[in-house]
Amino acid sequence: MEEDGEKIKAYCDEGILLLKKFYKENHPWNFNVVDLESRFETEIIDEKSKEKHVLAGIIDRIDKEREGNIYEIIDYKTQKRMPSKDALDQDLQMSIYHLGLIKRWPHLSPKNIKLSFYFLKHGEKISSTRSDEQLEKTKKTIIKTINEIEERKANNYDFPPFPSPLCDWCGYRPMCPMWKHLYESKYAKLDDDQIKKVAAEYFELKKQNEANNERLDELKTIIYGFMDDKKIERVFESEGYLTRKIQERFSYDLEKIKEILEPIGKWKDILDADEKKLEKILNSLPDGIQEKILALRTAKRFPTLTASKKKIKEEK
Ligand code: SF4
Repeated sequence: MEEDGEKIKAYCDEGILLLKKFYKENHPWNFNVVDLESRFETEIIDEKSKEKHVLAGIIDRIDKEREGNIYEIIDYKTQKRMPSKDALDQDLQMSIYHLGLIKRWPHLSPKNIKLSFYFLKHGEKISSTRSDEQLEKTKKTIIKTINEIEERKANNYDFPPFPSPLCDWCGYRPMCPMWKHLYESKYAKLDDDQIKKVAAEYFELKKQNEANNERLDELKTIIYGFMDDKKIERVFESEGYLTRKIQERFSYDLEKIKEILEPIGKWKDILDADEKKLEKILNSLPDGIQEKILALRTAKRFPTLTASKKKIKEEK
């Protein structure tokens, strides 16, 4: 309880600081604010199935600039990290807001809509725009995602949840596999005690593992010291013996190596295909190419169990 109180107080203190900073940076307030917490809806039609899908949301703030006929959508961000301009130029949330504003005020020219992220912690506003082409691509991306969801639903595939700090604000927590147990424990006590014992044992073993790893590191340091003193590389004991092996790893200045290998046509021989890099560029590839690559993708699913020591207040 005390812990919760402290957490809420810390949130409030941080919020007050951000508000003061925001006020100072934007004073005197002579913006032309058109709407705040502005609800919108936009319709997207699947050209193949002719199905209509509705996306809805809330835009933090809409301004109209005094000069020109420019409308500015402003989204406040409290995060520390400021994404690159490139990432903002492709941001899906802002593209959807853009579509929402056009749906509400169809007389607006898409060229006259400015999309701005206001990073409160840094007092920075970064703006972007969307071309007709980008908006069409956004619609295709949304339809593709909806189709994927529908396909998964039809095939009884599951939807793995991706927990993040945003879970604290998510309305689906009571039914989300990541949090359901916290809510269910008040109804179903049946196997609850047993699973709690198993979870407690898991934590205990993890703790022991951490302590063992720490001690192993200490022992290693003592053994290396002994080997250095005695000028030996192996120590014997009734259980067996320990051998020190020196491993050597090299690193190269790849920029300079590239200058040497490229002219003799050998540079591409050392460039390995990297799946992580492929996933990073996937969304920026033309649709047809993306589809071809996705058709060659196979998924392997495996569970990992992570333990978080954070105490969560049980739902009453
Ligand atoms: S509670 Fe579940 S559904 Fe909601 S954000 Fe967290 S992981 Fe996603």
